[in-house]
Amino acid sequence: MPCWSGSRNGSSGRVTGSDMVKVVTLFLIGMLVLALFGRLRMPGRHRKARCPSCGRPLIGPGPCGCGARG
Ligand SMILES: [Zn+2]
Repeated sequence: MPCWSGSRNGSSGRVTGSDMVKVVTLFLIGMLVLALFGRLRMPGRHRKARCPSCGRPLIGPGPCGCGARG
C-alpha cells in the first residue's frame, strides 16, 4: 500500500463549491452588517437639507448660495 496513506487525496488544496458559497455568504452578511451600522450611527446626518428659498440642497451648515439664510 504505497500511496494511500493520509488524507491528501483530494479535498485539501481545492476550493469546492460549498466553500465558495460559504465565502460569498459571509461577505454578504458582512456588507449587510456594515450597512446597518452605518445607518444606525448617523441617522439624520445624510439627510439633505434644502434651501427654503430656492429649493436647492444645502451642502454643509453654511447659508445657501442664493443669499437666503439656511
Ligand atoms: Zn437658496
